[in-house]
Amino acid sequence: MTDDAIRIESLRKTYKGSKGQPEKHALKGIDLTVPRGSVFGLLGPNGAGKSTLINILAGLVVKTSGKVTIWGFDQDENPRQSRASIGVMPQELNLDPFFTPRGALEVQAGLYGVPKSERYSDEILAMIGLKDKAEAYARTLSGGMRRRLLLGKALVHRPNILVLDEPTAGVDIELRQMLWDNVRKLNLQGMTIILTTHYLEEAEEMCDEIAIINQGEVVARDSTSNLLGRLDARAMVVHPASAVTDLPQGAGIEAELRGDGAVVLRYHSQQTSAEEVLAAVRAAGITIRDVKTEEADLEDVFLALTKST
Ligand code: ADP
Ligand code: MG
Repeated sequence: MTDDAIRIESLRKTYKGSKGQPEKHALKGIDLTVPRGSVFGLLGPNGAGKSTLINILAGLVVKTSGKVTIWGFDQDENPRQSRASIGVMPQELNLDPFFTPRGALEVQAGLYGVPKSERYSDEILAMIGLKDKAEAYARTLSGGMRRRLLLGKALVHRPNILVLDEPTAGVDIELRQMLWDNVRKLNLQGMTIILTTHYLEEAEEMCDEIAIINQGEVVARDSTSNLLGRLDARAMVVHPASAVTDLPQGAGIEAELRGDGAVVLRYHSQQTSAEEVLAAVRAAGITIRDVKTEEADLEDVFLALTKST
Protein backbone atom coordinates (compact mmCIF):
# COMPACT_ATOMS: atom_id res chain seq x y z
CA MET A 1 0.00 0.00 0.00
CA THR A 2 1.02 3.55 -0.51
CA ASP A 3 0.03 6.86 1.02
CA ASP A 4 -0.27 8.46 -2.37
CA ALA A 5 -3.66 9.23 -3.84
CA ILE A 6 -2.05 9.12 -7.26
CA ARG A 7 1.29 7.90 -8.50
CA ILE A 8 2.34 8.56 -12.06
CA GLU A 9 5.54 7.05 -13.46
CA SER A 10 7.19 7.80 -16.83
CA LEU A 11 3.85 8.71 -18.35
CA ARG A 12 3.90 9.43 -22.05
CA LYS A 13 1.19 10.33 -24.49
CA THR A 14 1.73 10.77 -28.19
CA TYR A 15 -1.27 11.74 -30.29
CA LYS A 16 -1.11 10.32 -33.78
CA GLY A 17 -1.17 13.02 -36.41
CA SER A 18 -4.27 12.97 -38.56
CA LYS A 19 -4.57 14.24 -42.15
CA GLY A 20 -0.88 14.92 -42.69
CA GLN A 21 -0.41 16.52 -39.25
CA PRO A 22 2.76 15.47 -37.40
CA GLU A 23 2.34 13.40 -34.24
CA LYS A 24 2.13 15.35 -31.00
CA HIS A 25 4.11 14.46 -27.90
CA ALA A 26 1.63 15.81 -25.37
CA LEU A 27 3.25 14.14 -22.31
CA LYS A 28 6.97 13.44 -22.40
CA GLY A 29 7.62 11.20 -19.41
CA ILE A 30 5.76 12.59 -16.40
CA ASP A 31 6.64 11.48 -12.86
CA LEU A 32 4.28 12.78 -10.22
CA THR A 33 2.79 11.78 -6.89
CA VAL A 34 -0.19 13.37 -5.20
CA PRO A 35 -0.48 12.83 -1.45
CA ARG A 36 -3.77 11.68 0.02
CA GLY A 37 -5.88 14.43 1.52
CA SER A 38 -4.18 17.27 -0.31
CA VAL A 39 -5.47 19.95 -2.63
CA PHE A 40 -3.07 19.58 -5.49
CA GLY A 41 -2.71 22.09 -8.31
CA LEU A 42 -1.61 21.24 -11.80
CA LEU A 43 -0.59 24.54 -13.27
CA GLY A 44 0.40 25.27 -16.83
CA PRO A 45 -0.38 27.33 -19.92
CA ASN A 46 -2.75 26.24 -22.67
CA GLY A 47 -1.43 23.22 -24.51
CA ALA A 48 0.85 22.15 -21.64
CA GLY A 49 -0.78 18.73 -21.41
CA LYS A 50 -2.99 19.22 -18.34
CA SER A 51 -6.20 17.85 -19.85
CA THR A 52 -4.33 14.97 -21.45
CA LEU A 53 -2.99 14.00 -18.04
CA ILE A 54 -6.39 14.39 -16.36
CA ASN A 55 -8.16 12.44 -19.09
CA ILE A 56 -5.67 9.58 -18.76
CA LEU A 57 -6.43 9.49 -15.02
CA ALA A 58 -10.13 9.47 -15.84
CA GLY A 59 -9.72 6.63 -18.30
CA LEU A 60 -10.91 8.81 -21.19
CA VAL A 61 -7.58 8.92 -23.00
CA VAL A 62 -5.35 5.87 -23.47
CA LYS A 63 -1.74 6.47 -22.46
CA THR A 64 1.08 5.60 -24.82
CA SER A 65 3.32 4.23 -22.04
CA GLY A 66 4.00 4.54 -18.33
CA LYS A 67 2.33 3.51 -15.12
CA VAL A 68 -0.61 5.11 -13.33
CA THR A 69 -1.66 4.05 -9.84
CA ILE A 70 -4.87 5.48 -8.41
CA TRP A 71 -5.55 4.99 -4.71
CA GLY A 72 -3.17 2.04 -4.74
CA PHE A 73 -4.75 0.40 -7.80
CA ASP A 74 -2.77 0.01 -10.98
CA GLN A 75 -4.87 1.43 -13.78
CA ASP A 76 -4.11 -1.48 -16.12
CA GLU A 77 -4.29 -4.31 -13.58
CA ASN A 78 -7.31 -3.02 -11.65
CA PRO A 79 -9.19 -0.76 -14.04
CA ARG A 80 -12.48 -1.07 -12.18
CA GLN A 81 -11.18 -0.17 -8.72
CA SER A 82 -8.95 2.60 -10.01
CA ARG A 83 -11.86 4.12 -11.92
CA ALA A 84 -14.12 3.87 -8.89
CA SER A 85 -11.60 5.86 -6.83
CA ILE A 86 -11.69 8.96 -8.95
CA GLY A 87 -14.33 11.43 -10.12
CA VAL A 88 -13.57 13.91 -12.87
CA MET A 89 -15.19 17.21 -13.72
CA PRO A 90 -14.07 17.63 -17.34
CA GLN A 91 -13.08 20.86 -19.02
CA GLU A 92 -15.59 20.38 -21.84
CA LEU A 93 -19.31 20.87 -21.23
CA ASN A 94 -20.40 17.47 -22.50
CA LEU A 95 -23.93 17.05 -21.20
CA ASP A 96 -26.76 15.21 -22.85
CA PRO A 97 -29.30 18.00 -23.55
CA PHE A 98 -32.25 15.66 -23.00
CA PHE A 99 -31.40 14.75 -19.43
CA THR A 100 -32.59 16.66 -16.42
CA PRO A 101 -30.02 17.26 -13.66
CA ARG A 102 -31.58 14.51 -11.58
CA GLY A 103 -31.67 12.20 -14.58
CA ALA A 104 -28.04 12.92 -15.41
CA LEU A 105 -26.98 12.11 -11.83
CA GLU A 106 -28.99 8.90 -11.77
CA VAL A 107 -27.61 7.71 -15.11
CA GLN A 108 -24.08 8.50 -13.99
CA ALA A 109 -24.64 6.58 -10.75
CA GLY A 110 -25.92 3.67 -12.81
CA LEU A 111 -22.79 3.73 -14.95
CA TYR A 112 -20.69 3.41 -11.81
CA GLY A 113 -22.87 0.60 -10.48
CA VAL A 114 -24.05 2.56 -7.45
CA PRO A 115 -27.12 0.73 -6.07
CA LYS A 116 -30.30 2.81 -5.80
CA SER A 117 -30.20 2.66 -2.00
CA GLU A 118 -26.74 4.27 -1.95
CA ARG A 119 -27.48 7.12 -4.31
CA TYR A 120 -27.69 10.61 -2.90
CA SER A 121 -28.88 12.73 -5.81
CA ASP A 122 -30.92 15.08 -3.62
CA GLU A 123 -27.92 15.88 -1.48
CA ILE A 124 -25.78 16.51 -4.55
CA LEU A 125 -28.45 18.72 -6.14
CA ALA A 126 -28.61 20.78 -2.94
CA MET A 127 -24.85 21.07 -2.77
CA ILE A 128 -24.51 22.32 -6.35
CA GLY A 129 -27.51 24.62 -5.98
CA LEU A 130 -29.69 22.89 -8.57
CA LYS A 131 -32.46 21.61 -6.33
CA ASP A 132 -35.11 23.76 -7.98
CA LYS A 133 -33.79 22.84 -11.45
CA ALA A 134 -33.78 19.10 -10.75
CA GLU A 135 -36.38 18.39 -13.40
CA ALA A 136 -35.37 20.97 -16.02
CA TYR A 137 -33.83 19.82 -19.30
CA ALA A 138 -30.09 20.34 -19.48
CA ARG A 139 -30.44 22.39 -22.65
CA THR A 140 -32.43 24.99 -20.69
CA LEU A 141 -29.68 25.39 -18.07
CA SER A 142 -27.24 28.28 -18.12
CA GLY A 143 -23.54 27.65 -18.67
CA GLY A 144 -22.87 28.05 -14.97
CA MET A 145 -25.58 25.56 -14.04
CA ARG A 146 -24.15 23.04 -16.49
CA ARG A 147 -20.73 23.39 -14.92
CA ARG A 148 -22.24 22.76 -11.50
CA LEU A 149 -23.99 19.70 -12.85
CA LEU A 150 -20.66 18.40 -14.15
CA LEU A 151 -19.30 18.74 -10.63
CA GLY A 152 -22.30 16.84 -9.30
CA LYS A 153 -21.80 14.05 -11.83
CA ALA A 154 -18.21 13.64 -10.69
CA LEU A 155 -19.42 12.92 -7.15
CA VAL A 156 -22.14 10.25 -7.62
CA HIS A 157 -19.90 7.32 -6.68
CA ARG A 158 -18.33 9.09 -3.68
CA PRO A 159 -14.81 8.97 -5.10
CA ASN A 160 -11.74 9.32 -2.89
CA ILE A 161 -10.23 11.69 -5.42
CA LEU A 162 -11.95 14.57 -7.18
CA VAL A 163 -10.32 16.03 -10.26
CA LEU A 164 -11.41 19.37 -11.70
CA ASP A 165 -10.09 20.41 -15.09
CA GLU A 166 -10.03 24.23 -15.31
CA PRO A 167 -13.22 24.54 -13.30
CA THR A 168 -13.14 28.31 -13.24
CA ALA A 169 -12.03 29.16 -16.78
CA GLY A 170 -14.53 31.71 -18.03
CA VAL A 171 -16.96 31.49 -15.09
CA ASP A 172 -18.26 34.43 -13.08
CA ILE A 173 -17.11 35.31 -9.58
CA GLU A 174 -20.20 33.89 -7.92
CA LEU A 175 -19.85 30.46 -9.49
CA ARG A 176 -16.14 30.48 -8.82
CA GLN A 177 -16.82 31.17 -5.15
CA MET A 178 -19.38 28.39 -4.99
CA LEU A 179 -17.02 25.92 -6.63
CA TRP A 180 -14.24 26.76 -4.22
CA ASP A 181 -16.54 26.56 -1.20
CA ASN A 182 -17.61 23.10 -2.32
CA VAL A 183 -14.06 22.01 -3.00
CA ARG A 184 -12.92 23.15 0.44
CA LYS A 185 -15.80 21.37 2.11
CA LEU A 186 -15.12 18.12 0.25
CA ASN A 187 -11.44 18.35 1.10
CA LEU A 188 -12.27 18.84 4.78
CA GLN A 189 -14.34 15.67 4.58
CA GLY A 190 -11.18 13.89 3.45
CA MET A 191 -11.43 13.99 -0.32
CA THR A 192 -8.18 14.46 -2.23
CA ILE A 193 -8.57 17.28 -4.76
CA ILE A 194 -6.63 17.78 -7.96
CA LEU A 195 -7.33 20.82 -10.04
CA THR A 196 -5.82 22.29 -13.14
CA THR A 197 -5.66 25.97 -13.78
CA HIS A 198 -3.64 28.49 -15.67
CA TYR A 199 -4.14 31.09 -12.95
CA LEU A 200 -1.23 31.22 -10.53
CA GLU A 201 -3.33 33.18 -8.05
CA GLU A 202 -5.95 30.50 -7.96
CA ALA A 203 -3.42 27.74 -7.38
CA GLU A 204 -1.85 29.86 -4.66
CA GLU A 205 -5.15 30.37 -2.89
CA MET A 206 -6.46 26.82 -3.14
CA CYS A 207 -3.56 24.39 -3.26
CA ASP A 208 -1.21 22.89 -0.69
CA GLU A 209 1.10 21.65 -3.41
CA ILE A 210 1.66 22.61 -7.00
CA ALA A 211 3.19 20.96 -10.02
CA ILE A 212 3.92 23.19 -12.96
CA ILE A 213 3.75 21.52 -16.31
CA ASN A 214 4.91 23.00 -19.57
CA GLN A 215 5.10 21.36 -22.99
CA GLY A 216 4.42 17.92 -21.58
CA GLU A 217 7.03 18.07 -18.82
CA VAL A 218 6.92 18.81 -15.11
CA VAL A 219 9.13 21.85 -14.65
CA ALA A 220 8.53 22.32 -10.91
CA ARG A 221 6.87 20.47 -8.07
CA ASP A 222 6.79 21.87 -4.56
CA SER A 223 4.63 23.09 -1.74
CA THR A 224 2.82 26.26 -2.71
CA SER A 225 4.75 28.39 -0.22
CA ASN A 226 8.15 27.08 -1.34
CA LEU A 227 7.30 27.58 -4.94
CA LEU A 228 6.12 31.13 -4.48
CA GLY A 229 9.17 31.84 -2.36
CA ARG A 230 11.32 30.91 -5.32
CA LEU A 231 9.40 33.35 -7.43
CA ASP A 232 10.23 36.56 -5.73
CA ALA A 233 10.03 39.00 -8.61
CA ARG A 234 7.94 41.97 -7.52
CA ALA A 235 6.79 45.16 -9.12
CA MET A 236 5.72 48.17 -7.09
CA VAL A 237 3.66 50.79 -8.88
CA VAL A 238 3.79 54.24 -7.29
CA HIS A 239 1.37 56.94 -8.32
CA PRO A 240 3.05 60.23 -7.38
CA ALA A 241 1.21 63.28 -6.06
CA SER A 242 2.95 65.44 -8.68
CA ALA A 243 5.01 64.91 -11.83
CA VAL A 244 8.25 63.02 -11.24
CA THR A 245 11.56 64.59 -12.25
CA ASP A 246 14.09 62.20 -10.74
CA LEU A 247 13.61 58.44 -10.77
CA PRO A 248 14.38 56.57 -7.53
CA GLN A 249 17.72 54.80 -7.39
CA GLY A 250 18.99 51.97 -5.24
CA ALA A 251 20.76 48.63 -5.31
CA GLY A 252 18.53 45.94 -6.80
CA ILE A 253 15.88 48.44 -7.89
CA GLU A 254 14.96 49.06 -11.50
CA ALA A 255 12.79 52.15 -11.88
CA GLU A 256 10.82 53.14 -14.93
CA LEU A 257 8.43 56.02 -15.65
CA ARG A 258 5.20 54.83 -17.18
CA GLY A 259 3.16 56.72 -19.76
CA ASP A 260 0.45 57.54 -17.21
CA GLY A 261 2.99 59.19 -14.88
CA ALA A 262 3.26 56.25 -12.48
CA VAL A 263 6.67 54.94 -11.47
CA VAL A 264 7.19 51.18 -11.79
CA LEU A 265 9.87 49.73 -9.52
CA ARG A 266 11.02 46.17 -10.10
CA TYR A 267 12.90 44.27 -7.42
CA HIS A 268 13.42 40.85 -5.88
CA SER A 269 11.85 40.44 -2.47
CA GLN A 270 14.65 38.15 -1.25
CA GLN A 271 17.27 40.82 -1.90
CA THR A 272 15.39 44.06 -1.45
CA SER A 273 12.59 44.82 0.97
CA ALA A 274 9.51 46.82 0.09
CA GLU A 275 10.64 49.26 2.82
CA GLU A 276 13.94 49.88 1.00
CA VAL A 277 12.08 50.50 -2.24
CA LEU A 278 9.77 53.00 -0.54
CA ALA A 279 12.77 54.72 1.05
CA ALA A 280 14.34 55.12 -2.40
CA VAL A 281 11.08 56.63 -3.66
CA ARG A 282 11.01 59.17 -0.84
CA ALA A 283 14.72 59.93 -1.29
CA ALA A 284 13.96 60.91 -4.89
CA GLY A 285 11.59 63.57 -3.52
CA ILE A 286 8.44 61.78 -4.62
CA THR A 287 5.26 62.15 -2.59
CA ILE A 288 3.23 58.97 -2.84
CA ARG A 289 -0.44 59.34 -3.66
CA ASP A 290 -1.07 55.63 -4.10
CA VAL A 291 1.01 52.49 -4.21
CA LYS A 292 0.51 48.84 -4.97
CA THR A 293 2.66 45.80 -5.55
CA GLU A 294 2.32 43.10 -8.12
CA GLU A 295 3.62 39.56 -7.88
CA ALA A 296 5.00 37.37 -10.57
CA ASP A 297 2.42 36.10 -13.01
CA LEU A 298 2.54 32.73 -14.69
CA GLU A 299 4.66 33.97 -17.57
CA ASP A 300 7.30 35.21 -15.13
CA VAL A 301 7.11 31.89 -13.34
CA PHE A 302 7.93 29.93 -16.46
CA LEU A 303 10.71 32.30 -17.37
CA ALA A 304 12.20 32.07 -13.90
CA LEU A 305 11.91 28.30 -13.71
CA THR A 306 13.26 27.54 -17.14
CA LYS A 307 16.15 29.97 -16.65
CA SER A 308 17.28 28.42 -13.35
CA THR A 309 17.46 24.86 -14.68
P1 ADP B 1 -3.92 21.74 -21.73
O1 ADP B 1 -5.09 21.05 -21.12
O2 ADP B 1 -2.79 21.96 -20.78
O3 ADP B 1 -4.30 23.00 -22.41
P2 ADP B 1 -3.97 19.51 -23.60
O4 ADP B 1 -3.68 18.28 -22.84
O5 ADP B 1 -5.37 19.79 -23.97
O6 ADP B 1 -3.31 20.76 -22.86
O7 ADP B 1 -3.12 19.47 -24.95
C1 ADP B 1 -1.72 19.17 -24.97
C2 ADP B 1 -1.24 19.13 -26.42
O8 ADP B 1 -1.80 17.96 -27.07
C3 ADP B 1 -1.68 20.31 -27.25
O9 ADP B 1 -0.63 20.62 -28.14
C4 ADP B 1 -2.89 19.82 -27.98
O10 ADP B 1 -3.05 20.49 -29.20
C5 ADP B 1 -2.57 18.34 -28.20
N1 ADP B 1 -3.77 17.51 -28.23
C6 ADP B 1 -4.72 17.42 -27.25
N2 ADP B 1 -5.68 16.55 -27.59
C7 ADP B 1 -5.34 16.06 -28.82
C8 ADP B 1 -5.92 15.11 -29.73
N3 ADP B 1 -7.06 14.47 -29.42
N4 ADP B 1 -5.28 14.88 -30.89
C9 ADP B 1 -4.13 15.51 -31.20
N5 ADP B 1 -3.52 16.41 -30.40
C10 ADP B 1 -4.11 16.69 -29.22
MG1 MG C 1 -7.02 21.67 -20.83
